[in-house]
Amino acid sequence: MNGEHKITSFHRERAALIYLRQSSMAQLRQHTESTRSQYGLAETAAGLGWPRTLIEVIDTDLGISGKWGVAREGFTELVTRMCRGDVGAIFGIEITRLARSNADVARLAEFARITGTLLIDPDGVYDPADVNDRVLLGFKGTMGEMELHVMAQRLQANKRAAAERGELRTPLPVGYVHDDAGDVVIDPDAEVQAAIRDVFAAFAACGSAYGVVAAFKDRRFPLRAYGGAWAGQLRWGRLAHARVLGILKNPGYAGAYVFGRYTSRRTVDPSGTVHTAIAERPRAEWPVLIKDHHDGYITWAEYLAGEARLAANHTAAGARPPREGTALCQGIISCGSCGKPMMTNYHTDQRPSYDCSSRRDQLTTPSCRSVAAACVDAAVAGALLNALTPGQVALALSAAGEVAGRHQRASRAAELAVERARYDAGRAERAFCAVEPENRLVARSLEARWEARLAALAEAEQALQAAQDTLPPLPSRDDLEKLAADLPGLWNAPTTSARDRKRLLRTLIADVTVLPGPDRGKARIGIRWHTGATDELTIDRPAHSGTARRTPAAAVELVKRLGPATSNDELVTRLNAAGHRTGHGRPAFLSTPAVGPTLRRMPRSS
Ligand SMILES: [Zn+2]
Repeated sequence: MNGEHKITSFHRERAALIYLRQSSMAQLRQHTESTRSQYGLAETAAGLGWPRTLIEVIDTDLGISGKWGVAREGFTELVTRMCRGDVGAIFGIEITRLARSNADVARLAEFARITGTLLIDPDGVYDPADVNDRVLLGFKGTMGEMELHVMAQRLQANKRAAAERGELRTPLPVGYVHDDAGDVVIDPDAEVQAAIRDVFAAFAACGSAYGVVAAFKDRRFPLRAYGGAWAGQLRWGRLAHARVLGILKNPGYAGAYVFGRYTSRRTVDPSGTVHTAIAERPRAEWPVLIKDHHDGYITWAEYLAGEARLAANHTAAGARPPREGTALCQGIISCGSCGKPMMTNYHTDQRPSYDCSSRRDQLTTPSCRSVAAACVDAAVAGALLNALTPGQVALALSAAGEVAGRHQRASRAAELAVERARYDAGRAERAFCAVEPENRLVARSLEARWEARLAALAEAEQALQAAQDTLPPLPSRDDLEKLAADLPGLWNAPTTSARDRKRLLRTLIADVTVLPGPDRGKARIGIRWHTGATDELTIDRPAHSGTARRTPAAAVELVKRLGPATSNDELVTRLNAAGHRTGHGRPAFLSTPAVGPTLRRMPRSS
């Protein structure tokens, strides 16, 4: 063996460790040859003069992935034993692949240098104390890493190329199967089809994933298993929220083929352990998206609408979707004093109120307040219905016509760009075909130009598609007029749910703010419309029940003035004569006991 002379009695008196590793159980099953040759290393060690009693095989890492962050016991034991100084040599099938990372191998080589341990693989004997061997080891390590990289890149490139043609097979969501030719087709099982269609129908009706779960409460839902003992078989179970989201967000149901919707991200925690997590890529970053790849359960436009709807439901991300409660401004009202959103509280007396959410963390400013929902809602609804008078609607409709025109112009511009790109590509193609094949130099440059034109055409087509996707169809003018005419009736109809009213409100009003003001008996309400216009309303706040029953200030003033010099009976007569009412609204102060606690507490003569 190469470098056999480096082995001395110093090494032979110490243990020879044979370190075996094979990345996965599948590799272990399929590459038995490699495993066998790894065990054969023990024979090599014996041949190099190690007594059999000192040869040990460490195979605890067989079948354990070499992935980052996976603790590999065998490797740790190897390093520990070597640092104790009782190891003469370490044998491996490829010494630079003992560990997954070059850093780990370098650390091993460094310890081996200090402890005088040899590293041996079928290529030869390395003595890390020798600078030449160290350089060689480092070089081989770098080469090995490069080789792995090139292999992985080639595999990835092939995979990507197949995906770009829409031919890379990925597990299909339930509701789709591969036919004999390998194409993606809708599952022929009618019950499966119906279940999938009903998920989308339920979502369209109720607008939330939890609503779909509720619709499937007493119904079973199919799952087609991929791999494992159940491969290809259909199983039925409950439809959970996560699966509903998975279905609604899966572009496959809109007939699109997508590759790279998910990616893995690595993070290192403070202890140095590497964690890998799967993250979803935003739609704009999907590497491959082929629309109309197969038959869809929904259209692409419906898919996009569903995506937007789910985003608007995502309360954890700050969305405040309209809920079932009666308080109209829920989710769009905020405190004008501290800027925080106001919470909607439904009290036991069924009278909701909006409370500044600073109260919860006790950061209220002096003018933060709580307002009864009824008075704010009445004012806001009034402003909304005022804004929808026939005159205003006519104005809005002409603006809508303008918007529709702009939409058309935008997509018309994209259409023209495609037409021009197609013409350019055709011309480049004709020029290329017309050149004599012998005139290679010219042919080559014409070919390059043709390719560039084709790329530009593809880009223009994509832009057109994007323009058409982002422009939702506008309702017709007649529909709008009809709706606007009976809007107040519709608004107050008992069949209109609180949620529908909120949705309507939010189409025009962006948010509502309770502004601070000196008068506690009034509330200033700021309304910001989606157009950017703002309105301010001042409303009377209903008095608190305790405050309302208080003796009127004028009566109290009179008692304060006359009290010290007047008897009770005289005072009662004077109060009645002045026409004052009691706090309970009674027309007269009858006698001393009726003067009430307020008057009794005052300093008086008798
Ligand atoms: Zn506040």
